[in-house]
Amino acid sequence: MIFIRFADLGSSPIEITGEIPFSAILKNLNSDEFAFEINQNFKIKASSIPNGAELRGEIFMNFRQLCGRCGELKDRIVTIPVHIVLRKKPPKKFREEDGRYEDDIGVCFVDGERVDLEPILIEQIILSISQVWSEEACGDLSSTLNS
Ligand SMILES: [Zn+2]
Repeated sequence: MIFIRFADLGSSPIEITGEIPFSAILKNLNSDEFAFEINQNFKIKASSIPNGAELRGEIFMNFRQLCGRCGELKDRIVTIPVHIVLRKKPPKKFREEDGRYEDDIGVCFVDGERVDLEPILIEQIILSISQVWSEEACGDLSSTLNS
């Protein structure tokens, strides 16, 4: 778990670096098209904004993925940009109808003063890498499909 506290954040960003456990990524991906054998590093700057926090940074990915063309696991090194706004949910008695505090692209609603960044970063990873991919050395998959 990678915790930040809103109380620790100010208007000038603080840098947070760490590792996202590969086992947690695999569990959430739930796909045998990916192989993760090492933890993935990230570097993020977090700053306070009204009623929340803004996270900007990068996740440095190093994993293997099935090539859509040759069907073999191939090395991938990818940098995933992170830009997320965390919004604090109001106390329960002040909350309005269901659905108002559902996450949207780039926005996460969070409970409490302390936030675990790990599931939020894993979500970014999954959104960014779950797609058909083929390595350049194998040629462009889409042009193959169209010919
Ligand atoms: Zn290939």
